[in-house]
Amino acid sequence: GQCVLVCPTGALGERDETDLALDYICDPDIVTVVQFAPAVRVAFGEEFGMPAGTNVEGQIVAACRKIGIDVVLDTNFAADVVIMEEGTELLSRLKERRRPTFTSCCPAWINFAEIHYPEILPFLSSTRSPQQVLSTVAKTYLPEKLGVDPARIRVISIMPCVAKKDEAARPQLTRDGLPDTDVVLTTREFARLLRREGIDLKHLAPSAFDSPWMAEYSGAGAIFGTTGGVMEAALRTIYAIVNGRELDRIELTQLRGFEGVREARVDLGGAVGEVSVAMVHGLGGTRALVEKVLAGEADYDFIEVMACPGGCVDGGGSLRSKQAYLPLALKRRETIYNVDRAAKVRQSHNNPQVQALYRDFLGEPNSATAHHLLHTSYEDRQRALTHTVKEIWDDITASM
Ligand code: SF4
Repeated sequence: GQCVLVCPTGALGERDETDLALDYICDPDIVTVVQFAPAVRVAFGEEFGMPAGTNVEGQIVAACRKIGIDVVLDTNFAADVVIMEEGTELLSRLKERRRPTFTSCCPAWINFAEIHYPEILPFLSSTRSPQQVLSTVAKTYLPEKLGVDPARIRVISIMPCVAKKDEAARPQLTRDGLPDTDVVLTTREFARLLRREGIDLKHLAPSAFDSPWMAEYSGAGAIFGTTGGVMEAALRTIYAIVNGRELDRIELTQLRGFEGVREARVDLGGAVGEVSVAMVHGLGGTRALVEKVLAGEADYDFIEVMACPGGCVDGGGSLRSKQAYLPLALKRRETIYNVDRAAKVRQSHNNPQVQALYRDFLGEPNSATAHHLLHTSYEDRQRALTHTVKEIWDDITASM
């Protein structure tokens, strides 16, 4: 049956799609591909009574295998690809003195901008979110590697986020009328699905990814799940592109606070010099910042927006505590930073599977192929919304 839960961002209801996911898993003609977001691995254990911030990445991989998923991939890989695309895009916009650039990986922010501030849309990065990058590459590059017909692939995405369902259905993110992401399960739904199949995460031995494509990630990809993480990941790669060497102090602690809006200046050296950046989480702070930008009162090159306070580690599809929100989010966030610290590779451009994707399939970042597959466009929906309200009103008055 249909189960509708309320999105804490206030954006959307949650359509339960566990049945659809199981239909695909049980269909022998379908090749199921799962991806799960950076924040999921540090929040999902709580669904099974494990302490907040426990990293259950290996148990999620094991659970996916147990329910019969064919290929288990990592959205963190796609976060690295996003950095390659968005970082390159930002550099060319800086050269053209088009500023600021807003990040585009949070669909609740995209909805908010399209509906409330369409004037801001030209400032949004055109790079697709990690969910959509992974799904598109899973239906183009992966079938070539696996030697299967792309029409047999179905992508199931496990997200901390209700707005990701809405994103997957965007007409701009379909090819030949079909979505690239076939099913989006929130962490709550994925937990429900595992329980239906009699799986208790606590009792599963962790398992490693085994795909030679699209499963490895850098520490930079891992930190996407928390506020400030996309910014930090991007600056690590942009610094290397500009200077031809890695940043010395890789942890940009000036970007890591928890205030609603944070600002910093970071010296990228070379032809770029110092850049002014801002990170905002929560839609109240976002509204204030957007109005400042539109009024010409803000002086930023790059702005990261996450609609959920804390970022995806406290996303609207995860368990949330009304009373202990900050301690929970902080524990999840600390685990994410530990994943980065422990990672063999800590910059997106040094991820060997990302390098292989560009070498074998995409060419350069922002190439014509990359643009076609990994970028998107936005739409002024303010007028559409007003129009719809008017139509509804006309219908009501006509029937009176
Ligand atoms: Fe989804 Fe919230 Fe993350 Fe935005 S910040 S992508 S709404 S979980």
